[in-house]
Formats: sequence, structure tokens, C-alpha cells
Amino acid sequence: MKIIDAHIHIGKWSELFYNYESNVQEAVTVMKKSGVDSAVCMPADNTPNEHLLKEVYDLTDFKFYFNAWINPEDKKLDEFLKNNMDKISLFKIHPSVQRKRITDQSYKKYLELACEYNKPVIVHCGRWKEIAGYNYPLEVAGKYPELVLILAHLGGDQPSIYLECADEVKNKKFDNVYLGTESVREFYFVNKVVRKIGAEKVVFGSDYNLGLPLMYIPVVESLDIPASDKELIFSGNILRLLNN
Ligand SMILES: [Zn+2]
Repeated sequence: MKIIDAHIHIGKWSELFYNYESNVQEAVTVMKKSGVDSAVCMPADNTPNEHLLKEVYDLTDFKFYFNAWINPEDKKLDEFLKNNMDKISLFKIHPSVQRKRITDQSYKKYLELACEYNKPVIVHCGRWKEIAGYNYPLEVAGKYPELVLILAHLGGDQPSIYLECADEVKNKKFDNVYLGTESVREFYFVNKVVRKIGAEKVVFGSDYNLGLPLMYIPVVESLDIPASDKELIFSGNILRLLNN
């Protein structure tokens, strides 16, 4: 079964993770050892987009899809996007690191760019509900129906939050919203999410260099769904979104 890890970081973190750093070769080794065929990579929060893109773009021994980190305060961001749009597959928005909701005015032009250039947006969702609650990306999804949003950590990284999020996505019929499995370990509740919203809405990720693919591949393997649905989660859905 083809596996794409749709959420990995490469590079250096800020004090948030004690300046921890990993490099491209380490990532390639871990991905290959884990049986991962290709990966969506984004910088860690203290690595410039252009550094990582330069390192992964011409690699011949492993396929990375580049995910540009959108920090509205990054003075070089607009030029980077302008010069490299054809090499960028997705955008990443991290409300907790930036301490801004995705609905903040400063993200608006980047959401519009994502619509214009058909780039799916992976948005971190977490337990800091005031800033990183799933309700803000859902608000964005309603406002921009043509924008594809992947809500990381299934929308909140905790069963009480992500089950609610799955209900919202289902009840309000958000066609443009997907949930990512990165760093979610409660396999029993992941099953419930997949049953609620359908395997075609769930995307596998590990959050490497923080997590490891082999910590989270078993969560998807353990799901009580047909192999063809597991394939959608492991690679089919993200490939469909990237090829659109
Ligand atoms: Zn992440």
C-alpha cells in the first residue's frame, strides 16, 4: 500500500521545542525505513522556507511535496511565494506559533492566494481553543468554498475536541474540509471520526520530526474499514488534492 506522510517538518525549531533540529537526510532515512513512499514537508518554525525548498526540491532519491510556512510577519514571504509558486504544493498556517487566529486579517491575502493558485492549506488545530480552535478554519472554509483546508490533529488533538469537529464537518457538509491524523494516538476514537466523516476526508500524517511515522501508521492500519479506505487515508486523498 502506498503511504504518503502528509505532514512532516524538517529543520530547526525555536525555543518552543528547545531549538531542536533535524536535517533532510535524517528525514529521508526515517521515511524510507518506515515504508513511506513520499512526504509533504514544511520547515520547522525557525527555518526559512527558501532554505528547505532549496534542499528538497532537486532531491533524486525521495519525493517531497513542499509546504510553505505562512508567517504573515515574515518580510521575505511575499517574494518567496511569488518566485516559487510552481514549486510549492501547499501552505501551512500555525495559529498557535503565530499567536493569531486563521481568521486574522493578516492571513487574508494568503488565503486568497491559496484559492487563486489551488494550494491546499494545512492548518494547525489544537487545544488552545481561543486561537487554534477548529471553529476558525471552519469559518474560513465557509467563506472560501473553493479553498481546500486540512485541519491538522483531526481538528484538535484530543478526542473531546476532534469528535465535535468531525460532527461539525459532517453536519454542515463542508466539502472542502479534510482532517489530518498527525500525532493522534487514540485509535478507538480515530475509528469513530472515520466512520462519521468517511475515509475520503481523512489524511495520514505523522508530524515528524516531532513524531515518527511508525508511531501513527498502526493507528490507520488498525481502523475497522476496508483496505481500499485505508489506502485513501494513506495516500489516495492527498494525491487527489495535490493533483487538482
Ligand atoms: Zn506540525
